[in-house]
Amino acid sequence: MPHYPGSYGSKLPDIGTSIFAVMSKLAADHNAINLSQGFPDFEVSEKLINLVNNYMLKGNNQYAPMPGLPKLREVIADKVNNLYGAKYDSDKEINITAGATQALYTAITSVIKEDDEVIIFEPAYDSYVPAIKLNGGIPVYVELKPPNYRIDWKEVKGRITPQTRMIILNSPHNPTGSVLRASDMEQLQQFLKGTDIIILSDEVYEHLIFDDKQHESICKYPELVSRSFAVFSFGKTFHATGWKMGYCLAPEELMKEFRKVHQFVVFTCNTPVQHAIADFLKDKKNYTGLGSFYQQKRDHFINALKGSRFKIIPSYGTYFQLLDYSSITDEKEMDFAVRLTKEFGIASIPVSVFYHNMSENTVLRFCFAKKEETLDKAAEILCKI
Ligand code: PMP
Ligand code: GLN
Repeated sequence: MPHYPGSYGSKLPDIGTSIFAVMSKLAADHNAINLSQGFPDFEVSEKLINLVNNYMLKGNNQYAPMPGLPKLREVIADKVNNLYGAKYDSDKEINITAGATQALYTAITSVIKEDDEVIIFEPAYDSYVPAIKLNGGIPVYVELKPPNYRIDWKEVKGRITPQTRMIILNSPHNPTGSVLRASDMEQLQQFLKGTDIIILSDEVYEHLIFDDKQHESICKYPELVSRSFAVFSFGKTFHATGWKMGYCLAPEELMKEFRKVHQFVVFTCNTPVQHAIADFLKDKKNYTGLGSFYQQKRDHFINALKGSRFKIIPSYGTYFQLLDYSSITDEKEMDFAVRLTKEFGIASIPVSVFYHNMSENTVLRFCFAKKEETLDKAAEILCKI
């Protein structure tokens, strides 16, 4: 292929390839156990697959309505009302998206303008900053410190300026496994009073929460709901990350702007999958057991790591476990993660990549959304290091 002869300024000069793509490829190249990118290595429910199959065979293969199938939006409205007590209008305030990533991008694009400031908490999921920058916004970073990774609300207050347009929350939190508490939400609610700051609440791991903790959705806090986009992912809830299906909730005024963008980003999402999920979601049992399902996996993994030199940082939610390797080596996180993959056959994610200044804390992230045999094999290797 001949080279492009012109010149252009990159819109994202500091951004390379996503760490998830990089580490999954490295794992494949070296035949390593892949605990890096977050995805289950077990199957989606056969019932759900059959539903998709049947809807396809029955001819539901053309465009769904732009905001998503009404019947799916209705089930979501019921679910959110039952779980969190928020009454979203399924017609005007719920939109089906191609995964949470598209919902996040669309929400940011619909309200962030040149020089708007967006507060994000680091380590931060990798899609937030590029989306902010592509819209001319300015990320304002607040660091969460190990081992607890709690938010210092005084610091957040100090970072608010007249340009602050948005705060991005993520609980349960990827990559750390920390979760927001009621006191966090109450403080936030209190200090946002009288401002027009918007919240973007990334709640893709809403059901993956452990040790009898409650998920503190923004949907539980009326004053936050009225200023929030809330984003969810069926990929996490139904073990189907490859289906790229999620949704966004927002009050009508914000949803109007969201839809203006959504219709030109994807227009609409996969029709047969929406039909199938609408049916599947009606049975609460298909998601209420997820917390204990993943808690067992977390516990299996950390029990199998007993005796290893890795130090366990508590994970209260998500399907990620952070391990501190400071008693093994002082290598940089990226270097150690690469060496673990190439020399020991186990791939993880260096947490430093989730900080704009590549903050080093000798911690790696391991995904435990895996069969027990995969976790056992991985732990056996880690115990020998
Ligand atoms: N937000 C967070 C915190 C995530 O971890 C992920 C994916 N793992 C997403 C958003 C994106 O979700 P989806 O795959 O549905 O786009
Ligand atoms: N969210 C997943 C993770 O944190 C990966 C998603 C992706 O590959 N973009 O591992």
